[in-house]
Amino acid sequence: MGSDCLFCRIVAGEIPATVVRETATTLAFRDIGPKAPVHVLVIPKEHYADVATLAQGDPALAGEVLATAAAVAEDEGLLGDGFRLMFNTGAYGGQEVFHVHAHLLGGAPLGPMLARDLA
Ligand code: AMP
Ligand code: ZN
Repeated sequence: MGSDCLFCRIVAGEIPATVVRETATTLAFRDIGPKAPVHVLVIPKEHYADVATLAQGDPALAGEVLATAAAVAEDEGLLGDGFRLMFNTGAYGGQEVFHVHAHLLGGAPLGPMLARDLA
């Protein structure tokens, strides 16, 4: 993927980001438009378009993304009061950047899971 992908460019150091944790295979950095007091994006360094592609293509790497998210949640002091971890996926999921990323949100009560009840 590389130069066409915003998050691949962050991994490559071509676009700055506020990195809070890095492992051999994952990167966690603060969202540029935070929706909560803590809003961190956790990505695999390798390009996968979305969480389904990642989980089906490399389940171990998907687990490493979760482990990094949990470590950041601990570092940010979120384990006691809780947090939300979510992967927007595709059109209905509202995904805008097609390099898989987990949103780690916390630091305040986050309200209902969805703004509207769609059931
Ligand atoms: P999504 O709608 O799930 O694809 O979320 C994309 C997220 O990426 C949004 O929350 C944006 O605020 C965030 N974002 C876009 N550009 C950057 C950037 N350069 N650095 C950090 N976060 C970004
Ligand atoms: Zn990418």
